[in-house]
Amino acid sequence: NSATTSSYNKGRGPRVKLRTTWSLRPCVSTCRWTHTKEKGKPLMLNPRTNKGMAFSLQERQILGIHGLLPPKVETQDLQAMRFQNNLKKMTDPLEKYIYLMGIQERNERLFYRVLMEDIEELMPIVYTPTVGLACTQYGHIFRRPKGLFISILDKGHIRSILDNWPETNVSAVVVTDGERILGLGDLGVYGMGIPVGKLCLYTACAGIRPEKCLPVVIDVGTDNETLLKDPLYMGLYQKRDRSQAYDDLIDEFMEAVVEKYGQDTLIQFEDFGNHNAFRFLRKYREKYCTFNDDIQGTASVALAGLLAAQRAVGKPITEHRVLFLGAGEAALGIANLIVMAMMEKGMTQAEARKKIWMFDKYGLLVNGRREEMDSNQEAFVHDSPGNVQSFLDAVNIIKPTAIIGVSGAGRLFTHDVLKAMGTLNERPIIFALSNPTNKAECTAEEAYTLTNGKCLFASGSPFGPVTMGDGRVFTPGQGNNAYIFPGVALAVILSGVRHISDTVFLEAAKALAEQLTDKELEEGRLYPPLSNIREVSVQMAVKLVEYVYAKGMAFRYPEPMDKKGFVRATVWNTNYDSFLPDTYDWPGVSYSPKSN
Ligand code: NAD
Repeated sequence: NSATTSSYNKGRGPRVKLRTTWSLRPCVSTCRWTHTKEKGKPLMLNPRTNKGMAFSLQERQILGIHGLLPPKVETQDLQAMRFQNNLKKMTDPLEKYIYLMGIQERNERLFYRVLMEDIEELMPIVYTPTVGLACTQYGHIFRRPKGLFISILDKGHIRSILDNWPETNVSAVVVTDGERILGLGDLGVYGMGIPVGKLCLYTACAGIRPEKCLPVVIDVGTDNETLLKDPLYMGLYQKRDRSQAYDDLIDEFMEAVVEKYGQDTLIQFEDFGNHNAFRFLRKYREKYCTFNDDIQGTASVALAGLLAAQRAVGKPITEHRVLFLGAGEAALGIANLIVMAMMEKGMTQAEARKKIWMFDKYGLLVNGRREEMDSNQEAFVHDSPGNVQSFLDAVNIIKPTAIIGVSGAGRLFTHDVLKAMGTLNERPIIFALSNPTNKAECTAEEAYTLTNGKCLFASGSPFGPVTMGDGRVFTPGQGNNAYIFPGVALAVILSGVRHISDTVFLEAAKALAEQLTDKELEEGRLYPPLSNIREVSVQMAVKLVEYVYAKGMAFRYPEPMDKKGFVRATVWNTNYDSFLPDTYDWPGVSYSPKSN
């Protein structure tokens, strides 16, 4: 009771008589205590239940952790302040990453509290670009596993591996096979950093409960020679298995996930190699609740940027001509969604496809080209428009209104390319989406200065504001997939969507673009500030829930009438749960929540 507490705080020994062994009377309340079997030290070692020094005196006493912590009781505010101060002292992004991941391993709610409060600053640490660096260093910075590792040697046993995962109520799985990590290539099992980072954003951006999220890496070997020679590498020491056994393993994985967690479990594919990404998307999209973020998430965020840019340019999407640098997963995903957006505005598919050109490492995709093209690219292969020897030639001949860089090959939007875009267009659209920062096709500063501040610019990795010689300041947009996948995931999970159609990503793009204010557009932004991402994701989820119910794609019944209230009510927050029963009573201790 309060008398007991205050006397304790005066530095006198606790008057509460503690039992060393005790049994709790049946607790009829909805307190956290009824949910956890843990007490004592294990409660503190579990990041999901640990509160550090924020365990109250009563909790410490009845949970058997009194004396295991310094005597002061802290608030989460104070803990967050300490955490933020420590982060501020660090200059190296990888050091910050390691520190943040350490907090996630110790105190999950505190981790998310700090991540959410400073999402703009910390997203580039837990996600691209620093997560890429962390993946390359995974074997050196590894502390505790945060996801499930399934190797090709586990074939036939995936279901029992899923049974080892401590959470039973999983709603979303993010899976990679590590073959194409960001723009960094094959990192094998070190790719685990990606699903972990993505799922952090499920929670931070859309309020999806962390225990509902499962990160998975599938290890079928790696073709990365450096890793295969590294004694510290943690995956299988073998070349990638590209045989039927790989496909069978992925099939078994998909089946095991739905068997264990239910048919509407969301499975997000992430950073698979180009060929496999398309194959698996085609193979599974009508059978499972799945999407590929590199293809569909990227497409949606890039289209949202274009929709925002067209507001500034003043031309409808149907009047744009888009030239891609790169013709891989990202480019094809974006191109197909642009086609859908153009078709929605009345164009035929053939007309829309003619508006889109692609230039890859062998040159322009044109009929009769000697170098190989795959079936996914066919829709964007046109008759040669003239003698195109370089990307600059392609710009000058095709005269695009927008160029989109997704080659992962570095600074290929040369000064001449940028100047040409500035000459050809009143408001050129320039997206340099390759990650990480050193792979971006140009910097924000180059884009603005070489087009005299006329361009509408977005990048994959963040760039700071650019001040022009005449004092104008532009805030570049970051076409970050995190604007899309958490909101889509929240809507899909809540409404019980079984198959995620591309139209969901089209709607997500529209929902994102319309949240950009005119003022933000004037500042040069093509996306709302990242600091608003939680609200942006929740509002997007509301729109998508409305959409999927209206289109008959939702299978969770009864249909919520108040969709906004329905979505908002589920959003997780980072306040600590109380571990105390609402009331209890035993000799020497009487407690009611008001005295806590
Ligand atoms: P991918 O491997 O599927 O495709 C790469 C494409 O670039 C291929 O068509 C290849 O031929 C082409 N290419 C390579 N070198 C080239 C060169 N020198 N000149 C012209 N073309 C060249 O990769 P992807 O999944 O499409 O990703 C590409 C890049 O896009 C990566 O850097 C990735 O980080 C980035 N990306 C960004 C976002 C985002 O910002 N939201 C999302 C997804 C991917």
